[in-house]
This record gives sequence, C-alpha cells and structure tokens, in this order.
Amino acid sequence: MPARDIGVDVPAPQQDCQDRQCPFHGALRVRGQLITGKVKTARMQSTVVVQREFFRYLPKFERYEKRSSSFAAHNPPCIAAQQGDEVSIMECRPLSKTKHFVVISAVRGKAQIISEDYTQEPSLALPGRAKPKAKEAEEGEDA
Ligand SMILES: [Zn+2]
Repeated sequence: MPARDIGVDVPAPQQDCQDRQCPFHGALRVRGQLITGKVKTARMQSTVVVQREFFRYLPKFERYEKRSSSFAAHNPPCIAAQQGDEVSIMECRPLSKTKHFVVISAVRGKAQIISEDYTQEPSLALPGRAKPKAKEAEEGEDA
C-alpha cells in the first residue's frame, strides 16, 4: 500500500505497515499542532513519550530556566521511533486517555550517529538506553 499524503512536509516512511492508526497507511488524520522533540521512552507497545525542552524567562533573576514537557505519541510500526530519536509528532484525534499525537518522522538519536562514524566499533549501545540503577547497598543498622 503506497503511503498516503498526510498534508505535512515530511518524508513518507520507507516501510509499509498494517496499522489502522498510522497516518500514512491507516485511517488516522492529523491536524493541529506539530511538535518536535526527543523520544524519552519507547517501552510501551506502539507508544513513545516525547520530551520537548524550552526556556522560561525569570524576571527576578534576569535569566532563563530550562523547562520540559512530555507528550505521549503513537508510534506506527513503519516509523518505529526508538529512545533518543529526534522526532516530529503531529496532533490527531484522541487515541487513548492521554495520547493525542502521532509520530510522523524520526531521525536516529545522537548515539547512533556517532556509532555510524566509527563503523568498526561494535554497536555503542542503544541511544540513551536507561542504565539499570545502581542498587544502593543497604548496610546493617547496628554498625
Ligand atoms: Zn505506516
């Protein structure tokens, strides 16, 4: 099935998919806001959490503070955004209680671009993959 024109200037995905909630190959329409951000987690089934960073001015200190907001976005299998990817998400109809965005394009994260430069290096781990938290050694109380 050829990718549908979604009306946004983004490249159509290379792969095909059977997802009904894919804006290119399914029946999902996109409208409203277009946001770019970074994939914070991609651990859910066909959903990613996209984080957007921005600056807010603090008049008292005459400086900016860094803030961020997160969006849950549908991740169609033909795009399959991974953690650390730079993605564009577009607003759509509500897909669940908190999900009303869909990923329309993804660029592989920084870590993978580095590993492409050093092609001899075996895969430098996945971009931004969360390390297991070091367990705090619980010492005995009577020391
Ligand atoms: Zn698709």
